[in-house]
Amino acid sequence: MSEHPHETQVATGAYDCACLCGAVRFELKGPLDEVVLCHCTMCRRGNGGAFNVAVVVRSDQVRFESRDHLKEYESSPGKFRAFCGACGSPIYSRRDSLPQALRLRGGLIIDLPAPAHMRHIHRDSRWPWVDSIEDAPKIAGQG
Ligand SMILES: [Zn+2]
Ligand SMILES: [Zn+2]
Repeated sequence: MSEHPHETQVATGAYDCACLCGAVRFELKGPLDEVVLCHCTMCRRGNGGAFNVAVVVRSDQVRFESRDHLKEYESSPGKFRAFCGACGSPIYSRRDSLPQALRLRGGLIIDLPAPAHMRHIHRDSRWPWVDSIEDAPKIAGQG
């Protein structure tokens, strides 16, 4: 773990990751240096959110401890979106054409550090109001 958690830097630690129910668990090893924020309609449906926070890693950075309920859905030819079949948490996406690459769902990483590199993609598909979410009232707890 970093001694300076608020600095933007390449995260080199190891992270324990799990789906909501814990049936899919894995350890992720850094470096985590790129996050892609995808606003496409498929990612929004597949993640149930305003956009997908995808942490770009190599598959050899991920060591599964439990994947009994891991399921993959082929959302486009050669592109697979993995999720937990028990609780439905999105886990990662991958492409057959890029066998070494995984795009992990950022929400699985409780202490996801600020990435060194971040970019929005398919931004033209976003909800137009998503740019103003920082302006909404901020309430600690469930409000
Ligand atoms: Zn689960
Ligand atoms: Zn997308």
